[in-house]
Amino acid sequence: MNTVDKIQMTPATATSEPKPIRTGSEYIESLRGRKLKVFLFGELVAEPLDHPVIRPSINAVAETYDLAVRNPEIATALSPFTGERVNRFLHIAQSAEDLVMQGKMQRRLGQLTGTCFQRCVGMDAFNSLHSVTFEMDEQNGTEYHQRLINFLGMAQRANWVIGGAMTDVKGDRSKSPSEQADPDMFLHVTRRTEDGIYVKGAKAHQTGCINSHWLIIMPTMRLGPADRDYAVVGALPVDAPGITYIYGRQSCDTRSMDEGDIDAGNARFSGQEAMIVFDDVFIPRERVFMDGESEFASMLVERFTCYHRRSYLCKTGVGDVLIGAAATAAEQNGVEKVSHIRDKLVEMTHLNETIYGTGVAASYQGVAMKSGVYLPDEMLANVCKHNVTRFPYEIGRLAQDIAGGLMVTMPSEKEFRHPELGPLIEKYLKGRADISTEDRMRILRLIENMTLGRNAVGYLTESLHGAGSPQAQRIQIARTMQIEFKKQLAKTLAGIAQDTQQEVARDLSTYMARVFAPVSGDAE
Ligand SMILES: Cc1cc2nc3c(=O)[nH]c(=O)nc-3n(C[C@H](O)[C@H](O)[C@H](O)COP(=O)(O)OP(=O)(O)OC[C@H]3O[C@@H](n4cnc5c(N)ncnc54)[C@H](O)[C@@H]3O)c2cc1C
Ligand code: SF4
Repeated sequence: MNTVDKIQMTPATATSEPKPIRTGSEYIESLRGRKLKVFLFGELVAEPLDHPVIRPSINAVAETYDLAVRNPEIATALSPFTGERVNRFLHIAQSAEDLVMQGKMQRRLGQLTGTCFQRCVGMDAFNSLHSVTFEMDEQNGTEYHQRLINFLGMAQRANWVIGGAMTDVKGDRSKSPSEQADPDMFLHVTRRTEDGIYVKGAKAHQTGCINSHWLIIMPTMRLGPADRDYAVVGALPVDAPGITYIYGRQSCDTRSMDEGDIDAGNARFSGQEAMIVFDDVFIPRERVFMDGESEFASMLVERFTCYHRRSYLCKTGVGDVLIGAAATAAEQNGVEKVSHIRDKLVEMTHLNETIYGTGVAASYQGVAMKSGVYLPDEMLANVCKHNVTRFPYEIGRLAQDIAGGLMVTMPSEKEFRHPELGPLIEKYLKGRADISTEDRMRILRLIENMTLGRNAVGYLTESLHGAGSPQAQRIQIARTMQIEFKKQLAKTLAGIAQDTQQEVARDLSTYMARVFAPVSGDAE
């Protein structure tokens, strides 16, 4: 490693080269003492790591490190940039199999945490930027790709968490960035110097940003020539001067501050979102990966969403937990063998595996880009995410059906621990005689947590809007559905058109070509 790299590997506040982070506990310690400007409940948080509302989200990210230690075959991959095995969240997909393994890792982490483990946006940002920076350089003679590779190598060696900051606050949705009454509704460059650029604006709903080491900022939508200053991509440390974090409130989040661990439902793990306000924040030139190339913004957004919409098969791991919780609630009530309960569990599984099927198929049908990175199939990635906007709601409804109303009317843990009330609750909230009332309460609280509480943010509303609201997928499905080709098939068989059956085009940018291409997208 050269001297420049040694300096660059150092986070903004540290004075010596950081040790690569290996375990969850090393990761947790790496977050201490960064003096981030984080506001929660109207107060500046002294140390996010020690805040009871924030800590469960940090624990969820820590699992991404511990899984890599326990199951390196799932959560690590051999990096062509460092020659070492690196955390899969920092790996550039070298094959369709690499894409598939990303999804398997995401499902496993969903199972282990029951929530959003936050590290995928950075993974999908790196993978999409790999091809986009390559193609920008090819067209314009810029040097963005090599800069990205330099930064990626550092991130891989240090094993950093990278937050992906795409969604702007957006103001009036009917107007483009340059048409907004307030120019700061979309993040934009305010000043350019020889050394770098300054950016201003705010990114909303930023998953895991406070738990990250670095952020990659990206534009959120297609841009025109007038939006040149909004076409900006760059990497900056989370503690860069001028950044303020305003923590996102989650349903029932203060239960994490209660005594005991029953009412929280999932006391160990949660997701995290915050708004990031950038007040003329500096990004050095060597960390800028797009500056003004507005014609490449839509390519970046479309490729990023291709990765990220397929990444939403993370929800199948969370779904596995919810199906297990519903089955346990039925068992505790003595109804696990009843036919309609079994049928509901089958339906929940069917929906969950439908998400998995489309997500994993999007990866298997991935194709190589010019830069060498593999991109998931656009159609199947969008279909996967579109299923995710619906099925978790139905799985959640069925879980609540099986759980019964007690899930939302149960007394608190304080009553359960109360000398006078505790015995009454123990007696009257019992289900099957051989199962403890406390176990029953714990499972019902978990279902509440996942369908109404903190982790419903990740399992339900994030499923709806994260990586784009449902209409965004429908637009892309419409764009790629090749309706003329399908009409042609029908007209030929109906005898309307003679001999119009066309060969399937071999251009892998079309869906049917990818369907019939040899496996791994090896075009002939
Ligand atoms: C829990 C969670 C985590 C997230 N994590 C991240 C993250 O880590 N990084 C990140 O960058 N983003 C993240 N997002 C943001 C996510 O991508 C956005 O929520 C999503 O793109 C929708 O944007 P919005 O929330 O501003 O909704 P809006 O844009 O306000 O959309 C609301 C409704 O209006 C419709 N609408 C909006 N604009 C138009 C238009 N011009 N024409 C027609 N209809 C329109 C939409 O289709 C939708 O139905 C996250 C979101 C959530 C909820
Ligand atoms: S919602 Fe899923 S894909 Fe997105 S960051 Fe969370 S766990 Fe990863």
